[in-house]
Amino acid sequence: MKVTFLGTGTSQGIPVPLCNCEICASNDPRDKRLRASLFVETGQKNILIDTSADFRQQMLRSSIRKIDLILLTHHHFDHLYGLDDIRSFTNAHQQFIDVYTKPDCIPEVMTRFGYAFHRDNLQIGLPALRMHAVVKPFFVGENNHKITITPVEVGHGRLGIYGYRIGNMAYLTDCKTIPDKSFDLLKNLDVLIIESLRYRLHPTHASLIESLAFIKKISPKRAYLTHFSHELKHSRLDAELPENVFPAHDMLELFIDEE
Ligand SMILES: [Zn+2]
Ligand SMILES: [Zn+2]
Ligand SMILES: [Zn+2]
Repeated sequence: MKVTFLGTGTSQGIPVPLCNCEICASNDPRDKRLRASLFVETGQKNILIDTSADFRQQMLRSSIRKIDLILLTHHHFDHLYGLDDIRSFTNAHQQFIDVYTKPDCIPEVMTRFGYAFHRDNLQIGLPALRMHAVVKPFFVGENNHKITITPVEVGHGRLGIYGYRIGNMAYLTDCKTIPDKSFDLLKNLDVLIIESLRYRLHPTHASLIESLAFIKKISPKRAYLTHFSHELKHSRLDAELPENVFPAHDMLELFIDEE
């Protein structure tokens, strides 16, 4: 399984327009972060997690040619609002793309993008999507190459949203709290990808100290931090993180055993 970080920034991305801080002015390419999204290639399926606000730009700078399914974590702007640009893919392949998310996220998506889920969209060139509510683990792929996708609920302030476990990798973004039942779904991970917004505490996001505590409790073999604000400098994080914890950066690729 190959995992590519398409974006590793929080809602404003980095650099932030009009900001002159040290991180926004950094010449280190790892400090330039588009809005958060992850691409997962199993042997058979190409899975996109979130259609970030920078989805179009992410596709232009990557070599991604096909998306088989989309997993949405939640409806906030930075994670969803690139959804319309999926039309390039549904037009090119003349195929619907299946979208999976938490049941209470569906009306939020439909309010903004209901037009993308009509049956005749392939003929008229609109994004051609099919919505599915996820309430339990499901399989993708065929025959002896099936892979399990497990929704993992986390608390984003008062909002309950989904992270996803795919094989032995889990992606948890925008997570201030993790309920006990979700820790049970995060055992024996090779790779945990988890948000770390900044050093200071935030009411609805995990700060660095909280992310490190989650990592310690979940104890994956390796952990990668993502969804950064412009308080976190890549080189500084690299130097100060524990041995098996790494800061992600845009276009970083990981190779992970599937099961
Ligand atoms: Zn976010
Ligand atoms: Zn800044
Ligand atoms: Zn959010």
